[in-house]
Amino acid sequence: MSRQHRSEIIKTAHKLDARAWVANHDGNISIRLGDNRFLATPTATAKADVCEKNLIEVDRAGKRTAGTARPFSEIAMHLAVFAERPDVGAVVHAHPPYATAIACSGSGIIERPFLAEAIVSIGPLIPTLPFAAPGAASVKTITQSAKQVDCVLLANHGVFSWGATLELAYLRMELVEHLARIATLAQATGGVQPLPESIIDPLLGSRAKAGLGHAADRAMDFANRPVIACAPAPHSRTPILSRKPSQSSAATPSSEQLAAIIKEEIAKLLS
Ligand SMILES: [Zn+2]
Repeated sequence: MSRQHRSEIIKTAHKLDARAWVANHDGNISIRLGDNRFLATPTATAKADVCEKNLIEVDRAGKRTAGTARPFSEIAMHLAVFAERPDVGAVVHAHPPYATAIACSGSGIIERPFLAEAIVSIGPLIPTLPFAAPGAASVKTITQSAKQVDCVLLANHGVFSWGATLELAYLRMELVEHLARIATLAQATGGVQPLPESIIDPLLGSRAKAGLGHAADRAMDFANRPVIACAPAPHSRTPILSRKPSQSSAATPSSEQLAAIIKEEIAKLLS
């Protein structure tokens, strides 16, 4: 196992704990190491206790191939995202309280991101998937969405996010919780207002330009048509991004570069 990936997954698990986005043994993280190799956190372990010794590797069927701990039951959902999205290098699952509250209420108040940065990083839609029992049903619901979006709320459950790198997947989770917190605070004064429609197209253009995730290849498809929550979005005819997993981190901008690109693109649009 790559030392860098191991240390990254441990650090991220500790961050989920430190930010109180998980309780008990909640939450899990995985990184794609190769075609049939995935590094993952262990089951039945508080995220604060994830360490070198208890990390595991699984194959694409979810069978443990390295380590001694057992795989978590939601690994099948992670593997479904990896299978649907060759560009995805990491998946994060947690129960951040504001976003999970919105997922549980079914209010959908962050379904259409209302901050420019979120449109660029996450895309135009954060769907709430209907509650599904653990196992085949939840795998089916996430499989249907994985091609279309970069994060989802799961009704009465929590949040899944993914990205070319673990850092990007984590930052998306952070942004979802940030939106959820702002939307919740804004409820007291009448709720958030949507971004002007005229800015959405250019923001999606910036998203495509920044190469943010596989969904970027559909970004312009979204531009002039309404998106219906929980329904499949239009498929891309010619994907811009068709990177192999091993190439994804090399081809993906670092978080600093990404932040600079997003800032620059938004500044251009707003000037
Ligand atoms: Zn969960």
